[in-house]
Amino acid sequence: SRFGYASIGSQRQRLPVYKYRTAILYLVETHATTIIVGETGSGKTTQIPQYLKEAGWADGGRVIACTQPRRLAVQSVASRVAEEMDVKLGEEVGYTIRFEDVTNPAATMIKFLTDGVLLREIMDDPLLTKYRYVDSFGSKNLELIWKKLEMVLFCVFPGMVADLLEHIQRRRPELRLIISSATIEAKSMSDFFQTSKKHRGPEDHEFVPRKVPAVLSVEGRGFNVQIHYVVEPVSDYVQATVSTVLSIHDQEPAGDILVFLTGQDDIDAAIQLLAEEAHASRKISSGLIVLPLYSSLPRAEQDLVFSPTPRGKRKVVISTNIAETSLTLEGVVYVVDSGFSKQQFYNPISDIENLVVAPISKASARQRAGRAGRVRPGKCYRLYTEEYFVNEMSSVGIPEMQRSKLVSCVIQLKALGIDNILGFDWPASPPPEAMIRALEVLYSLGVLDDDAKLTSPVGFQAAEIPLDPMISKMILSSNQLGCSEEIITIAAILSIQSIWVSGKGVQKELDEAKLRFAAAEGDHVTFLNVYKGFLQSGKSSQWCHKNYMNYQAMKKVIEIREQLRRTALRLGIVLRSCEGDILAVRKAVTAGFFANASRLEVSDLIFLFPARLEAFSHNGMYKTVRGSQEVYIHPSSVLFRVNPKWVIYHSLVSTDRQYMRNAMTIDPS
Ligand code: ADP
Ligand code: MG
Repeated sequence: SRFGYASIGSQRQRLPVYKYRTAILYLVETHATTIIVGETGSGKTTQIPQYLKEAGWADGGRVIACTQPRRLAVQSVASRVAEEMDVKLGEEVGYTIRFEDVTNPAATMIKFLTDGVLLREIMDDPLLTKYRYVDSFGSKNLELIWKKLEMVLFCVFPGMVADLLEHIQRRRPELRLIISSATIEAKSMSDFFQTSKKHRGPEDHEFVPRKVPAVLSVEGRGFNVQIHYVVEPVSDYVQATVSTVLSIHDQEPAGDILVFLTGQDDIDAAIQLLAEEAHASRKISSGLIVLPLYSSLPRAEQDLVFSPTPRGKRKVVISTNIAETSLTLEGVVYVVDSGFSKQQFYNPISDIENLVVAPISKASARQRAGRAGRVRPGKCYRLYTEEYFVNEMSSVGIPEMQRSKLVSCVIQLKALGIDNILGFDWPASPPPEAMIRALEVLYSLGVLDDDAKLTSPVGFQAAEIPLDPMISKMILSSNQLGCSEEIITIAAILSIQSIWVSGKGVQKELDEAKLRFAAAEGDHVTFLNVYKGFLQSGKSSQWCHKNYMNYQAMKKVIEIREQLRRTALRLGIVLRSCEGDILAVRKAVTAGFFANASRLEVSDLIFLFPARLEAFSHNGMYKTVRGSQEVYIHPSSVLFRVNPKWVIYHSLVSTDRQYMRNAMTIDPS
């Protein structure tokens, strides 16, 4: 291959950051915060932790922690760094993502983790037990917690972690914070660190003055990328992607193709279409290796995208925006940019958090194009018009903080002793409605008290469970109700996307399979039947296959459940089974999710023509108790078209209507 033969040592020295090794080490030595700007692929993530380790920053049991925004990125860079250092993953180099810890506390010096896990680690410090019982959270207690956290922190914007750590650092000057970023975010970030801050409240005077961060720009070695636009807007970007890939393959010299689509659905669709069309025109079908890349892809398949392309072949990686900034693929010369990505949007009024396909920003478009110029001059094919790019595309995206649900974030800040969250210096302030909504939910769950402080023990316990506070409350309530074994199973299943295979083409079989497990009480109790069946089958993959269940998802459920059991035990929850007492299970679920209750709207039509509507298998309209929104039971639910009078649901999704996913019947009397 073109790249596979160079030794890892010489590959490392070829990366742009290598020239800056001494400068970086000097700046880190002398500054509390260092911002390193450099284009994607310049070696920031994989090299800098190694430089720090080589310079002794991991001596004496300290850890160099490096956060990445996504789980996939964490795993991938960790295995890359382990390979570069020629060590076994999980020893000197390890990683931690939610529900998976591949580290050895006695040996790990460089650790990759997600922002979320880092927050949790700060809280999980053993001293938290002491901190939990002190009355006021003066800076003394925080000091103790942070002293224990002997880390050199290395983190990546965006995310609130940078702000939080910076806050911590003021009380722990020996801690080092390095923020690395691709060029585009640098300006706002360095502004953020340099502007003088608003008034922070009464504890202000205790802070060590902020030190101005060092900013280092790593010169890239990007090659020129020629941009091509479509002349007319495209109506089907999957189809347009496929034609573009095929014409590149037909007309352009060797070089891999990286395609940006939005998610598993359209990636799968594109791959299928590509296979069909390549097959139809035999001339070009040979020599194309088509690979998907998205977060839920099994590990072995993910690793394929990094393997060198065999001579005479052309690799096509069809990816989500994971390949935009977090992962670098060697050998890419052509980029096809659909102009869209899936983005999380939270609506605090309806409390709906949805992944929606939305247009990307100019900044993203430039990042995507840049992926084509890594090895030699490249080309980027934008599936939108130049006119659109220039006049309509927004220049930067909406910061994550402003489009996320805040409950988990608020509870974590509170657990860290940052009480004045309304006055907190966010890199990008979240909308007040989202903040109010979060406080309201946490208060109603009994997690926060009248002064918006964490309650003891519920609030502190909930903060230690790495799940949505509503789920945490459900788990905590199961303790008194004697059904913690069942509730932990439900929590584990709710925390993954779906345990069923995707219904495309097998909808009828899937519905029949679900009926075999369906409980009259709804999806939560159905999950218990499924889990029981899976255990009885000896966790068999054939059994899953026969029942249209996703075996990988079920294995994940077992893993998550095991983690939750350990967390529950640590919190002093007695693991007990209610032995079929479904009422106890329903009570526990309701204790966490009462805010998500909704009531069937009995329309006049049903009174007039009950039998006819029955025959039409009517899916009834519900109104949420909070907010009185019009909602429907999701077709994936076992309660679809059953129309019980009252239900509580796990979450809302909106497509053509607003649907309740995972519903359970309740009897409000
Ligand atoms: P940055 O953080 O600056 O975007 P990285 O440190 O992630 O860059 O990547 C530097 C280089 O390391 C990439 O250009 C690529 O060549 C190589 N690399 C990174 N991850 C992998 C991997 N999983 N497999 C193979 N090579 C990798
Ligand atoms: Mg990186």
